[in-house]
Amino acid sequence: MKPFDYQHPTDAAAAVRSVAGVPGAVFLGGGTNLVDHLKLGLVEPDLVVGVTDLLPAAIEELGGGGLRIGAGVSNSELAADPRVREWFPVLSQALLSGASGQLRNMATTGGNPLQRTRCVYFQDVTTPCNKREPGTGCSAIGGWTRNHAILGASEHCIAVHPSDMAVAMSALDAQVRVLGPGGERTIPFVDLHRLPADTPERDTVLEHGELITAIDLPAQSIARRSAYRKVRDRASYAFALVSVAAALEVQDGVITDARIAFGGVAHAPWRAYRAEETLRGAAASEESYRAAADAELVDARPAEGLDGGNAFKIPLLRRTLAATLRDLAREDA
Ligand SMILES: Cc1cc2nc3c(=O)[nH]c(=O)nc-3n(C[C@H](O)[C@H](O)[C@H](O)COP(=O)(O)OP(=O)(O)OC[C@H]3O[C@@H](n4cnc5c(N)ncnc54)[C@H](O)[C@@H]3O)c2cc1C
Ligand code: SF4
Repeated sequence: MKPFDYQHPTDAAAAVRSVAGVPGAVFLGGGTNLVDHLKLGLVEPDLVVGVTDLLPAAIEELGGGGLRIGAGVSNSELAADPRVREWFPVLSQALLSGASGQLRNMATTGGNPLQRTRCVYFQDVTTPCNKREPGTGCSAIGGWTRNHAILGASEHCIAVHPSDMAVAMSALDAQVRVLGPGGERTIPFVDLHRLPADTPERDTVLEHGELITAIDLPAQSIARRSAYRKVRDRASYAFALVSVAAALEVQDGVITDARIAFGGVAHAPWRAYRAEETLRGAAASEESYRAAADAELVDARPAEGLDGGNAFKIPLLRRTLAATLRDLAREDA
């Protein structure tokens, strides 16, 4: 591992100044992703700035059923919070479907959405990768693509974003509170992550030195009937092949409102606006669930690969969406 300086400032503003002042400097949250990357040589910063205990570590009520989650709150604390479990069950379920108990104890609300792709080529410094080293090429294209994107990919990168929590946050219209060298700003969670286009090295819209300080969940009654369904190669300790975060309102057998996001299929959590639109006003039926999947997946482009590719994700996602909506509609009956 390349040697680096470590700083632990006294407050968040000082941490922002430290990182902003050194190109390539990074914040250290729970370290469950970053420390692996330092060891593998994927990132080689001159400066690492510890922030976990400088960040708000409480979950505050915003009134009417909304929550402000401090970026220092651990994934375990967030998943276990009774208000999250009751008002936003999709978020609690998404968190509990990820990693392991020990990892969730360390992982933070600020660090989780910024974890980097699990593309095996990205993690192997001996292979070309446009995300790790822009301009070197994409080893995944024509390589092992089972875990890669079917939506929104580019000729430069077909990686997927790995966070489960981020899929739930996208469906819940969360807002990300950020402190940067120029002051504070708020970013809709759905706009935090980028599609790869021709700059896959940038995962998010955050500028260098911007620190996530909190994530707000607006009050919304629909979220009380919500769920997260994750399909993976083994029952625990595995990333999603595909996942669905959904919330549904049904009255007299008709869907009055829906929120849906997909995981495991794109470079960003994929908010399924077309599926939502198709469901609003439709009967809560298998036909409607199929129509919603059709609408959202019309632009899906599976990747061929040495391992047979990832076309299987399309029918898998259809079934996962239908199963999630079916269960939620039943709950609402
Ligand atoms: C074996 C294993 C299995 C896993 N399985 C899953 C899984 O199934 N699902 C899942 O979702 N995740 C999984 N994870 C990933 C885990 O959830 C993440 O590593 C964790 O959430 C990252 O949070 P952290 O606080 O440790 O971030 P760190 O590792 O500290 O940081 C991650 C990135 O965010 C930056 N950063 C950290 N905090 C901030 C902040 N406040 N503001 C701005 N930048 C910041 C860092 O500079 C770094 O780039 C797994 C991890 C491991 C090791
Ligand atoms: S898919 Fe993206 S992360 Fe993976 S090798 Fe290609 S450029 Fe790198």
